[in-house]
Amino acid sequence: MLVEPRFIACYSLLWSLPLLERIKGIRAAIRTLCTNQVEQQPFDREALLTLNAILAIGYPALEVASGQEMVPVYRTREADQGAVLLPIALSAFHLFTQAERHRLHKCKNDRCILFFYDTTKSATRQWCSLDCMNRARSLRHYRHIKKERAFTPLILIRVL
Ligand SMILES: [Zn+2]
Repeated sequence: MLVEPRFIACYSLLWSLPLLERIKGIRAAIRTLCTNQVEQQPFDREALLTLNAILAIGYPALEVASGQEMVPVYRTREADQGAVLLPIALSAFHLFTQAERHRLHKCKNDRCILFFYDTTKSATRQWCSLDCMNRARSLRHYRHIKKERAFTPLILIRVL
């Protein structure tokens, strides 16, 4: 059994524009890799390099929990931004290496951009949430009604 290391965030965080750009970069990389996995495409090498660059700022270590017990932890080499970036990258690492691939889905609502990890027994869930399911079904119903009305023949009777 794999013990998931705790992440030690013991640094003060200074939010900045460069940090925001790095968060956007890793988010885009993870989104690309999720799309690749769901659509069974080859993984994008540039996205993988971006994720690996963030993973490289962290390293596993051991820490004494109490008495004779040690626990695994992750530390970061970047004191200022690692506390934000590394947990995101480690979550993706965990998803791509330890999760069941067939449980990662893209929400079937055309207007939703989310991916989700399906924990149902059958792993056949299609929407990220009940709200998304309801919105998608309402939209499908609306389009169906609109289509029916578009094909309703118009009969014009002129009375003389
Ligand atoms: Zn959704």
